[in-house]
Amino acid sequence: MLEMTPEVQFALAAVRQASWLAKRIQREMTGESLSKDDRSPVTVADFAVQAVLAYLLQQHFPQDALVAEESAAALRQPENAELLERVVAYVRILVRGATPETVCSWIDRGAAAPTGRFWVLDPIDGTKGFLRGDQYVTALALVEEGSVQLGALGCPNLSPELEPERNGKGALAIAVRGAGSWTMSLDGGNWRPLRVSAVDTPARVRLLRSFEAAHTDGDKIAAFARALGANAEPVRLDSQAKYAMLAAGRGEVVLRLLSPSRPDYREKIWDQAAGALIVEEAGGQVTDLDGRSLDFSQGRLLTNNRGVLATNGRLHAEMLAALRQIGA
Ligand code: AMP
Ligand code: MG
Repeated sequence: MLEMTPEVQFALAAVRQASWLAKRIQREMTGESLSKDDRSPVTVADFAVQAVLAYLLQQHFPQDALVAEESAAALRQPENAELLERVVAYVRILVRGATPETVCSWIDRGAAAPTGRFWVLDPIDGTKGFLRGDQYVTALALVEEGSVQLGALGCPNLSPELEPERNGKGALAIAVRGAGSWTMSLDGGNWRPLRVSAVDTPARVRLLRSFEAAHTDGDKIAAFARALGANAEPVRLDSQAKYAMLAAGRGEVVLRLLSPSRPDYREKIWDQAAGALIVEEAGGQVTDLDGRSLDFSQGRLLTNNRGVLATNGRLHAEMLAALRQIGA
């Protein structure tokens, strides 16, 4: 069983509250605007979730640093006063007494240096999915000396069995290094262990890939599937929900190939830390496209890595060979 350390208790409570707030904002606001401009629902959700999480971290672990995606610089501009008001109104639902000033200062806690022991947060991972009403997650991880120790994903649009399900209860996945990966419904209930699939024949391999074409290389994904002999049509979904599904045995590979338009792209640590540990602790394997371990000691980006290959561990070497063969 998962030991309820203070870190685990904090991560569970924080991700639950974050997911509850994200769902509420998605429900109340997505009719209003469908772009990622300043007043879009995803912007409100990004800022509000990061503010609440930073506030909770300060309450539970005042000494710990936070490395998170958003900064409040734009929010402090006078022309964004209306956006800030909306963010503050949502934060106040969970943190009574929040003000524009405290909300901005909580958000800016996320600019800490990524060294030693620190928490990593993507408040809304999969912003495009959030806008479409598809998959998005809140991703929280604890890194110590470059090694991910805990990873938690709040997945509002996955069922407790980790299958896509809109407007259901949602799922929470959590891993602690050495203690396995676990899942439960976002609203509570029993823990279940997560285990990758046992599929070890290339023809049966199911690929989980980005929904957004610009985040990957669709032609090379097709070439990879051919080189491997995988016949199933890749499943397209946003965010680290892909890692949760891989950990649950609902696919065999998550591929993050470099987009031809961004060949020098380096992964952001908040897009990978939680999901990678959840896959590994469920029995899977995670490397970059060259077979190197993900190196979380390099700052806000995975500077020493190129893309990601996460698998159920059965065919990892064959898949690295297939990637070499197609020049990915
Ligand atoms: P996904 O949902 O798998 O498409 O991944 C979403 C994440 O991809 C976002 O949180 C971004 O940080 C990241 N992203 C943005 N642009 C790119 C890009 N050109 N290549 C790879 N990832 C990107
Ligand atoms: Mg993200």
